[in-house]
Amino acid sequence: MRIVLLGAPGSGKGTQAKRLEASLTRPHVSTGDLLRAAVAAKTALGLKAAEVMERGELVSDELVLGILAERLGEKDACAGFILDGFPRNLAQAEALDKLLEELQQPVEHAILIDVRAESIIERLAKRAELEGRADDTAETVRRRLDVYREQTAPVVEYFREQGKLSMVDGEGDIDDVAARITGLLRSGEDGDDDEG
Ligand code: AMP
Repeated sequence: MRIVLLGAPGSGKGTQAKRLEASLTRPHVSTGDLLRAAVAAKTALGLKAAEVMERGELVSDELVLGILAERLGEKDACAGFILDGFPRNLAQAEALDKLLEELQQPVEHAILIDVRAESIIERLAKRAELEGRADDTAETVRRRLDVYREQTAPVVEYFREQGKLSMVDGEGDIDDVAARITGLLRSGEDGDDDEG
């Protein structure tokens, strides 16, 4: 099962991706996590990415695509994955298709976790208190939401045109949202003879 989770920052993609990782036994691949690990390890890539991330802007497509290709090339990802935080713009969506075509592993489902703007702001404020992420400050959050609207929202249409998009109501309890996603994937299995 090869899944892309879409949604604004704070929509719950990471949380739901972790749930899916456990239930589907496929790795959760988060470009944000991969970048944060590179920043923490002070690799050359991490040093380049850190400042961009703190501003809430997108790290260059080339850098992100490089770490993603490396991660998806690892053995545990060859039977599927749950992708979180990528693609963030149309160029990345096209690059992802190309990469997965080469690996003969096209995206099967793109799931948009739909959450109201007011809930997003509330959740990100809460996360800033709990996790203290460097990019959860009020100003950066505003920038990340703008970037999402301007660059990432068109990716939703990209997957819709491919007939791969499903929407899930992301409001409410984490367990309820998880159940909605599981239900959706289950209903998509009817007539699907893919073993993954
Ligand atoms: P996230 O944890 O997915 O919210 O990502 C945190 C930050 O990492 C983003 O605000 C970007 O600066 C950077 N980032 C994560 N994924 C990508 C991506 N696909 N393209 C560019 N930048 C990314």
